[in-house]
Amino acid sequence: MNLLEYEGKGLLAEWGIAIPRGIPAKSPKEIVEAFEKINSPAVLKIQVPAGGRGKAGGVKIVKSRNEVEAFIETWYRKEFKGHIVTEILVQECVDINTETYLSISINPRSGHMLLMFCSEGGMDIEEIAEDRPELLFKMELNPGQEYREFHFRIALSKLKLENSKLIQVAKTAYKLYRCFVDNDLCLAEINPLIFLENEDILALDCKIETDDSAIFRNKRFDSLKREINDEYEREADEIGVTYVRLDGNIGVIASGAGLSMNTMDLISHAGYKASNFLETGGGITSTLMSRSLQLVARSESVKAVIVNLYGGVNPLVEAAKGLVDGVNLLERKMPVIVKALGNQQQEC
Ligand code: GDP
Ligand code: MN
Repeated sequence: MNLLEYEGKGLLAEWGIAIPRGIPAKSPKEIVEAFEKINSPAVLKIQVPAGGRGKAGGVKIVKSRNEVEAFIETWYRKEFKGHIVTEILVQECVDINTETYLSISINPRSGHMLLMFCSEGGMDIEEIAEDRPELLFKMELNPGQEYREFHFRIALSKLKLENSKLIQVAKTAYKLYRCFVDNDLCLAEINPLIFLENEDILALDCKIETDDSAIFRNKRFDSLKREINDEYEREADEIGVTYVRLDGNIGVIASGAGLSMNTMDLISHAGYKASNFLETGGGITSTLMSRSLQLVARSESVKAVIVNLYGGVNPLVEAAKGLVDGVNLLERKMPVIVKALGNQQQEC
């Protein structure tokens, strides 16, 4: 689960990392009230689990009530990268001296935690990682070892940071590491991690992702398990399939996660792009199949659908019935290509 920025900041603050004063608000009235409490100037930040808000205007410094209202007009209940904006964080505007980048993620190759720091953080960190990777400091953290603050200080001392900054970054890295481990996170990113004019360090933005396989043992997250607000994903949840919306134009239905990814690979190998990931799991019924087809074919951009089924525990006859029903119900005609192998293959 991706935490919203203010939820993530709440977690960081509990682990001792300084954050700016902010008030999350859920309605236009609450947003205006929060702005008045913050006592201008403030930064308004749309709360969606997606990055790149700053470049799109979803993070804005405002000085007057008129500007707050204009921001609400532009963003409230509007969509950003597939998410409807229903919450806005109203935060005190701070004077930034320098922006840096600090994160811990999991290195998929080694399975170890990976701490990354860059003295030039901010909105263009991806470009820095690409063009000037030498600026990015990396430290692998062994899961079997207990790290202390001095480990981070020694490792980071390779960088040419002023002493006072080195100490602050190392302290923050240690707190972030504790927060990461104590909460079973798979990503904890602070971008930017800033120094104020008075040299204090502050997490100005953060992106926190929990490991959902471990989430049951952290009561703290119970209240954060949110309702799905993407209408396609909500419908998929109702149908009982696992679904992710993508931006290609070939719909995919498959009877397993591996098979679905494989089908997507074949689609891109042929020079096209999948419009979704959908895996039915082992509980195919004709209704599930018919509804899944409606779901993946609905978007105007979808030009064809590929159905790739393996009949192991799944009954292929039911699947075939559902597909015939589903094709008859389609609002737009389009090719639907089906491959079904395994249990009940002959009867189809
Ligand atoms: P993102 O674009 O979604 O990552 O949103 P961020 O929260 O990182 O904000 C983007 C940029 O807005 C930051 O890199 C800062 O440069 C700027 N910004 C955000 N808050 C403040 C603030 O309080 N004061 C100033 N001066 N700039 C801010
Ligand atoms: Mn950011």
